[in-house]
Amino acid sequence: MKAAVLHGIRDLRIEELPDPKIEREDDVLVRIKAVGVCGSDVHFYTHGRIGDFVVEKPLILGHESAGVVEEVGKGVKNLKPGDKVALEPGIPCRKCEFCKSGRYNLCPDVRFFAAPPVDGTFAEYVVHPADFCYKLPDNVSLEEGAMLEPLSVGLHGAILGGVKPGDEVAILGSGPIGLMALQSARSMGAGKVICVDLYPFRLDLAQRLGACETINAGEMDTVEAIMELTNGRGVDVVFETAGAGITSQQAVEIARRGGTIVHIGLGSQEAVPTNIVKIIFKELKLQGVHRYANIYPRALELISSGDVDVRSMITSRYPLDRVEEALREPIERPDSTVKVMVEI
Ligand SMILES: [Zn+2]
Ligand SMILES: [Zn+2]
Repeated sequence: MKAAVLHGIRDLRIEELPDPKIEREDDVLVRIKAVGVCGSDVHFYTHGRIGDFVVEKPLILGHESAGVVEEVGKGVKNLKPGDKVALEPGIPCRKCEFCKSGRYNLCPDVRFFAAPPVDGTFAEYVVHPADFCYKLPDNVSLEEGAMLEPLSVGLHGAILGGVKPGDEVAILGSGPIGLMALQSARSMGAGKVICVDLYPFRLDLAQRLGACETINAGEMDTVEAIMELTNGRGVDVVFETAGAGITSQQAVEIARRGGTIVHIGLGSQEAVPTNIVKIIFKELKLQGVHRYANIYPRALELISSGDVDVRSMITSRYPLDRVEEALREPIERPDSTVKVMVEI
C-alpha cells in the first residue's frame, strides 16, 4: 500500500509499504478514504515532537479518518465489507481503572493513531478493532466521518464544561476545535456564543455556524469587548482553544463569577502565570479536556441529524501524493484555512 511516512522534520515521503493484515478476530481491515489534517500532524511535521511524544523512527501521521471496510475478522458482528466507517483513533488497554470506569481517554496505555510510535492513517489501509469503527449512515459522507474526530473533542469539552440551555459562552480561538466547541455548545442549548479569533475568514464562518457575536482580537480588546457584550457579567463557560498564554489569562477575566473555563488548546507554552486570587474569589472551575470517551456515537448523531455542519469547515482537499502541501497549508495560509482534508 501507499503511505505518507514522516522520517524527520519536514521530511515526508510517499512510500510503498506491505498491506496490513488482520491478526485478531475482532479487527477489521479498512480502506482509508478521508483523513483530516490536525494541528498535531502539522506540529510533528514541523517540530518532530509534541511534549513527550518524539518522532524517533519513521511515522505515518494522520488520525482523523474514515474509510470503507474491506475485510472483517472472524469475531466481527457489527460490520461487513463495504460498510462506510469512521475510525476512533485511540485504542485503550480496556483493563486499567480509567478504562473500567469509562474514562478510557485517560488510559495510560492508550495506543493512538499518529502518536509516536503508533502509526496513523495517511495510508491506503489500516487494521483497527471493530468496536472502534462506527458505521456511517447513508446521509453521512466519508469526509464528514473523518470530521467526527475533532467534533468529538469539542463535544466532549462542551459536556465536561456543563453547558446548559441559555448559557452565554465565549470561544477563544475559532479554528477547527473552536468551531466544533461552538457548534457543540449550540447543540446543547447555549444562547449567546461569542467567538474570538485573529482571522476575519474564521469569524465569518463562526457566524455562519451559529455564533451570535464575533470579536477580532487583532482589532479589539477581547476582555473589554466580552464584558461589554455581557453587560459586565462575563460568560458562563469559556472555551480556551487557542492554546496561547494570553487567552488563558483572558479566560479568567471573562468567566462570570462561578463560571467554568474549559481548556482544550495545546500551545507551546506549558506553564502560564494566572490570577489565582481571581480564580478563588470568583469560584471558577477549570476543566481540562483530553480527547474524548464514548462520544463518537453522539457526534455522529449530531452530523446525521443536521444539527452540526462540519462540511462548511473543510476549506481544501489534497490527494495522498500531495499530503506535504496539505500539512503546510495551515501554516502558510492560516487566514483562509480551517480544515484540510486528504483524500486517499
Ligand atoms: Zn485531531
Ligand atoms: Zn486502560
